[in-house]
Order: sequence, then C-alpha cells, then structure tokens
Amino acid sequence: MKTDLFLLKYGELALKGLNKPAFEKKLLNTIKRRLAKLGNFSVRCSQSTIYVEPLCEIDTEEVLSVLSKIFGIANICPVVKCEKDLDEIEKTAVELIREYRTTQKTFKVESKREDKSFPLNSPQLSREMGGRILKNINDLKVDVHTPEIMVNIEIRDKAYVYTRKIQGAGGMPLGSNGKAAILLSGGIDSPVAGWMICKRGVCLEAVHFHSHPYTSDRARDKVLDLARIMAKYCGRINVHVVPFTEIQLAIIEKCPENYLTVIMRRLMMRIAEKIAVANNAQALITGESIGQVASQTMESLVCTDSAVNIPVFRPCIGMDKEEIVTISKKIGAFETSIQPFEDCCTIFVPKHPKTKPTLAEIEEAELLLGDIEAMLDDAIARDEVVVCE
Ligand code: ATP
Ligand code: MG
Repeated sequence: MKTDLFLLKYGELALKGLNKPAFEKKLLNTIKRRLAKLGNFSVRCSQSTIYVEPLCEIDTEEVLSVLSKIFGIANICPVVKCEKDLDEIEKTAVELIREYRTTQKTFKVESKREDKSFPLNSPQLSREMGGRILKNINDLKVDVHTPEIMVNIEIRDKAYVYTRKIQGAGGMPLGSNGKAAILLSGGIDSPVAGWMICKRGVCLEAVHFHSHPYTSDRARDKVLDLARIMAKYCGRINVHVVPFTEIQLAIIEKCPENYLTVIMRRLMMRIAEKIAVANNAQALITGESIGQVASQTMESLVCTDSAVNIPVFRPCIGMDKEEIVTISKKIGAFETSIQPFEDCCTIFVPKHPKTKPTLAEIEEAELLLGDIEAMLDDAIARDEVVVCE
C-alpha cells in the first residue's frame, strides 16, 4: 500500500531539556539530507514526533532503509491516511494487515482521537474496529496483553492507520557530540567500534594504515568499502590512507623483534593523533578488546595508550568476539570485513610477541628508531584523503 506519512519517534532525545531544539535541528537536517537522494519530502517536528511526508512517488522500503540508519530515531511507523469514516478505516486496516502479516495470529487495536468531533471515543473506536477486523480475517484473535500485530488508528485531519513499527537506530543525532578519529582496519572490530561511538552523536574522521606493496590495493579498497557502509549511518567520512611501509621496515630493522607490534601500534596512534588534531577531532577510537591478541593485553594497551595525549575510546573493550560479530552483521559490515585481504598488522607478526611489555622497555627500544617525529610527519605528508559517503 502507498505510504502517505512516516511517523518518527525520538529515543533519548525526548529526555533532553533546554538543549532539545538544538538536537532536533541536527536530527531534522540529517533526515532531510539523507532523504534528498530519494526525492522530495516535507519534514517537520511537533511534540517529540517527526512527520516525514513524501511529496513524490516513493518506495516505502527504500525510505525505511534510509530512516532506520539515522541515529536519534527510536522507531518509524509508515502510515496510510484515509477518510474519517468507519468503512474506510476498516478497509485500510484490513488491507494493511493482509499485506504485512506473516505468521502472526493475534492483534489489538489502539486508537487515539485528536479530533474530538469524531462520533466514537478511543475505546469505542478500538472495539468497533476490533470486531470488524475479526469478521474480515477469521484466523486472527484479539490479545490485549501481548498482541503480535498492533493496529494503530489516530483520528486527526484524516484517519491515520498503521500496523508496523520499525526499530530505528537509536542513539543521539549526528553532530551533537563532536568528532573523533577512528583507526580503521579491514577487520571486524574497528567498523563496529566506529559505529558505536557515532551512535552517540559523534562525527567520524578515519585513519587507515597501508603497507604497499606488502598489502594490496584490494586490501585498501576493502577498507574504503567498509567506510562507505559505515557512512550510511555515520554520514560522510574522510578516510586518511597513510603509507606505513617505511615505518614498519624501520621498526623491523632497528628494534627487537618481540616489541615490534606494540611499537608499531604506538606509532599508528601518534600519527592518528596528529591527523585527529589537524581535523578538529578530540579523541581516538580503536576496535581493541582486552586479551583478543598479544597487542591487546592490559600491559600492551597501557603502552599503546601512553603514546598519545588525547583520550582513546575503545567501545569493544569488554565485548566477546561473538558480540562484536552480531553488531557487525546488523550494520551490514560483516561480509565485507571477512573478505580475506591482508592487513598491515598481520604481515609483519613477530614469532614471540611480548605480551607483558613495560613502558620503559618500549621507550628504550623506540630510541633505536632515531628521529621518530620526522618519520611520522613524512608519512602524514604522503597520506591520501578519500571521501566516503
Ligand atoms: P579484527 O580483530 O577483527 O581482525 P581489528 O580491526 O580489531 O580487526 P586488530 O589487528 O585487532 O584488527 O587491530 C586492533 C585495532 O587497531 C583495530 O581495531 C583498529 O582500530 C586498529 N588498526 C589495526 N590495523 C589498522 C590499520 N591497518 N589501519 C588503521 N587502524 C588499524
Ligand atoms: Mg581486533
């Protein structure tokens, strides 16, 4: 059936006090920008509800797919409008149930009467429609406690009828909480980490290290594909692709082998910090999780953390791989993440990585590298920025 209106409910945003209008404005802007690709829409908000009205032919599922990726929206109901007439409302409700019902066996009607001149009050209208629906669809039963289908009828300028409530992405509107730089690898964890921070309203800048010719162009393209998948939720992401080969080779040549990974990660953090600061990002994000690999033991994380002066957020820190994979699948990144291309972290892996390094040992080993600042600045000077949207 043709959708006449999408009703959007806020999540946490509804709890905001004086700042609410500013948050609403950001959310409305994001909705308008994302929908512009699908045609002409009127978007307005009133009393914690956003009304999105298509002004052109649309594909309902396509619009739902875009709206359900916008942070700040708790749920979305596609509404069909009809005349405020019992027969018309019945026809619309029955058609909607028939179109979207799969295995559901129970329903409940809930009504709201905003137009008080309508002859039936809300409970009367619910009862009347419940009876009419039962007559039309004889294998459905009423269940007022845990209905599988909720038939909503709102009497306003027209009768609004809807049976579907699609879960939104939740979180806070994009841009309501500053900016951070995500260290984006081609793995499963870092896109999930970026998504989780972005869900809280944070815009992202991304940094990816590649080790050409040890890593292939396809490995780099895979990361850009991941950034594009994230961008459906997170908005446009600038990906800084930083050449890391020279730094890695210098570490291999000059530093003790068992410290290689931690030193490499510390230098990645320092480059990411410089890029973050230059692009007004206030923190770094990684996909690390305690104990996942040798470079993510508590001791290694302490050494990595001390390399930079801005906060490092690791939203996956306490998550098991299974839990991270569940989110990766939900956001549509998993299939891309598991494509088997090498990452710069995996090509030069020491045989016996130190799992409990001390900061003093690492700092001493780093002295062997000489002018580290110059090495970092040289890599940044050669980075390539790819806009992903
Ligand atoms: P997975 O663990 O699923 O293979 P990952 O992204 O967690 O993927 P790790 O080797 O565990 O990869 O790296 C830990 C973190 O370091 C990543 O989550 C990411 O934030 C960062 N990182 C690793 N390699 C790179 C890279 N080539 N470019 C940018 N950041 C990277
Ligand atoms: Mg990992």
